[in-house]
Amino acid sequence: MSELISIAEARRRVLDSVPRLGDETVVLDDALGRVLAEDVRSAIDVPPFDSSGMDGYAVVAGPDAELEVVGEARAGHPADIRVEPGATVRISTGGKLPEGADAVVPVERTTASNGTVRVPETSPGQNVRRAGEDVPAGTVVLAAGTTAGPAELGVAASVGRAELRVARQPRVAILVTGDELTPPGEPLPPGGIYSSNGFALAGQVERAGAKLAGRTSVPDDPDGTRRAIGAALDRADVVVVSGGVSVGPHDHVKRTLRDLGVEERFWGVSLRPGKPTWFGVRDGTLAFGLPGNPVSAMVTFQLFTRPALAALQGAPPEARHVIATLGEAVPRNPQREQAVRVRLSQTDDGLIARPTGEQGSHMLTSMLGADGLALISAGEGAAEAGGRVEVELL
Ligand code: AMP
Ligand code: MG
Repeated sequence: MSELISIAEARRRVLDSVPRLGDETVVLDDALGRVLAEDVRSAIDVPPFDSSGMDGYAVVAGPDAELEVVGEARAGHPADIRVEPGATVRISTGGKLPEGADAVVPVERTTASNGTVRVPETSPGQNVRRAGEDVPAGTVVLAAGTTAGPAELGVAASVGRAELRVARQPRVAILVTGDELTPPGEPLPPGGIYSSNGFALAGQVERAGAKLAGRTSVPDDPDGTRRAIGAALDRADVVVVSGGVSVGPHDHVKRTLRDLGVEERFWGVSLRPGKPTWFGVRDGTLAFGLPGNPVSAMVTFQLFTRPALAALQGAPPEARHVIATLGEAVPRNPQREQAVRVRLSQTDDGLIARPTGEQGSHMLTSMLGADGLALISAGEGAAEAGGRVEVELL
């Protein structure tokens, strides 16, 4: 392993290698979670016309009066009549304000009798929703790089868009290596363990808005490793291999990646868990060799692969960070920065981060209930309880 680099430097090298994927048009129903590849500009005013904010009577603003009811404007059914002083049109919430009217009196404040209605004093604009009050025509309502959530889909629809231009989803091939790996559901042979990385990583791929392009279990032999990685490089935008990146005699991943023309960008990060992380590029295809230990695999995916998947789609790569107070002391590692799995709780004294339990890189249950990774810098002694810590949210 060459010299270990920092988390920040490793991320920088990953992001420096990320190409932009192309984009495609999808209907709104298929756009949830996708990253916009266009600025969405509204061609219309929203609301498109002056309308009523209440059920009531559309009037010409003025003193209290007894008015003649001359028509009705329901939502979707404008009244084809002009409102003059002395007259009124019954109107529903969302109904188009008739010509001449400039205010609406809520029905609760009126008394109707035989073709007329008594209204109190009103001033112009009361209970009227102005055209363009939400979105004036010509406004950019959603910027490129935004991930479409429910509100974005609603706003796109509100300006009349049925389709959106979005970034193509990165195709991610996952390869898990190890002769000991047994698929869950089968009996465990002697020396076997159940393979968990493929499932956890596939979940992370999906949460990152990317698409799983195959998941393969690879034996610890050079030929099998070469076949599997070669096929993955040909079909995917991102290849994620777990295990086999260390220095053991049965670790074939790094050599195979290099033999297949993947150019190494780093191997070894000053990080715990996750030191033996490898990253390289072949013709715009990214290849990650993540450590096999289940926690290390998930942590290094979060720190290095997830930002790449965001950047490939043109989304901001940074995860959300919060500053919290450490709820208990965490021993520092003398050489390496640590990614400690923490649960966050909101207290009167602010946000408290507490480690989820034993932090060994093989203790996968330490990921359960984790809200984030507290990044603890290297050094002597401990990061003390009560100190401030940066937490990258998962
Ligand atoms: P390696 O990086 O291949 O040396 O693996 C490190 C540790 O992680 C070993 O104890 C492996 O058995 C374990 N490991 C590797 N791959 C997986 C996997 N897919 N699921 C669970 N544990 C794994
Ligand atoms: Mg292995």
